[in-house]
Amino acid sequence: MHCPFCGAPDTRVVDSRLLAEGDKVRRRRECPGCSARFTTYEVAELLMPPVVKRDGRREPFLEKKLRTGLVRALEKRPVSAEQIEKLILRIKNRVRASSERELSSQQIGEWVMDELRRLDPVAYVRFASVYRSFEDVNAFRVEIERLQNTPPDSMNSE
Ligand SMILES: [Zn+2]
Repeated sequence: MHCPFCGAPDTRVVDSRLLAEGDKVRRRRECPGCSARFTTYEVAELLMPPVVKRDGRREPFLEKKLRTGLVRALEKRPVSAEQIEKLILRIKNRVRASSERELSSQQIGEWVMDELRRLDPVAYVRFASVYRSFEDVNAFRVEIERLQNTPPDSMNSE
């Protein structure tokens, strides 16, 4: 990396440190020409397609938002933090692996519901009721019935 002070073509790394949850590296560099020291940060570039919301607005994929929704749906359910993290990872991989230039928030919601249906039926219904914003009690009942008709061997029983 060039020195930002004198433009020397090469600088020396004097210290490297892993930050936060290990997804960022901070490097202290020193220029052998002018002795200036500066810091660089290195992160993996993971390209996530933008998410198109129901109203047509676009926003970046926000892991924090996904986690908040999941934690709320899974409140007081027998599901470990590790299971939640794995679920988030699977969703992120699906988002990343999709070859779409953009993804609808509904599509991501469907993927989350696929995962929750297998993980915890109660959390699934909670999430679905918020996500699909059921228009009436009837729509909600249809969803519950659909869940009850799912063969037990395809779901985790409690
Ligand atoms: Zn320099």
